[in-house]
Amino acid sequence: MRQIDLSNKTALVLGVANQRSLAWAIADALGEAGCKLAFTYQGERLQKNVLGLAEKYPNAPVMACDVTSDEQVEGVFTRVEKEFGKLSILVHSVAFARREELEGAFRTTSLQGWRVALEISAYSFVNLTNRAFPLMQEDGGSVLALSYLASQRVVPNYNVMGSAKAALEHSVRQLAYELGPKNIRVNAISSGPVATLSARGISGFSSMAKQHREKAPLGRNIEPREVGDAGLFLCSDMGSGITGEIMYVDGGYNIMAI
Ligand code: NAD
Repeated sequence: MRQIDLSNKTALVLGVANQRSLAWAIADALGEAGCKLAFTYQGERLQKNVLGLAEKYPNAPVMACDVTSDEQVEGVFTRVEKEFGKLSILVHSVAFARREELEGAFRTTSLQGWRVALEISAYSFVNLTNRAFPLMQEDGGSVLALSYLASQRVVPNYNVMGSAKAALEHSVRQLAYELGPKNIRVNAISSGPVATLSARGISGFSSMAKQHREKAPLGRNIEPREVGDAGLFLCSDMGSGITGEIMYVDGGYNIMAI
């Protein structure tokens, strides 16, 4: 019987805020397949949550990391190198836009609002991949980002986060091209709506989730576990032929026109 065995792999997961986080669903799927895990949390407010969840995986390092802090990012990779030596998997499940940018007219997006959203939600992916590269270049690796359909289509209120996701998806392809020769695969999951901490900050999120439910071929919203399973597939050798791909885990919503 074929099984996914990640017992000789290591993963760094950024973006766990609580049990609903897509980052946690992915981490847990990797962990249950035997992968050694390291976690980060953003700010003291979330430290307790992440420490609590990480208890399931004894000895998993849990580190503070705001992706806008060079010092913290540096600290994370220094510790990962010390604990693991090499890194097999990097999961980037981080996004942020200021609340005022997630409602009203997109044309009024401020320069600062644009910078914040693009820096945290897209640039950090490029920067973290670059930091992970030296730890992956010998044995190859897998890098995973989380995206949303608003990168490709108009989703009211998603505004500058749509721009950030478009930049993120482009970065997935560009990095996949650059890192392919080192057998480092770079992919993203484009998830359907899940009621997480960040999602609830988007104005009109509940009606968006309802529309997805009603129009998706599967006739329901997806579960975080389904994103976790897709992440496990992409990051394991099961996905060894896949790079530069944006994989939809959305019950098929994205294929629909009318
Ligand atoms: P979440 O709130 O659980 O996770 C978002 C994470 O981003 C949090 O852990 C938060 O601490 C982190 N973060 C924000 N700013 C940061 C910073 N400066 N430094 C470090 N970390 C920072 O929500 P989620 O829905 O699990 O989001 C994870 C990813 O999934 C995001 O990229 C999001 O855009 C994407 N996504 C979510 C949905 C959805 O409906 N929930 C759909 C498609 C894509």
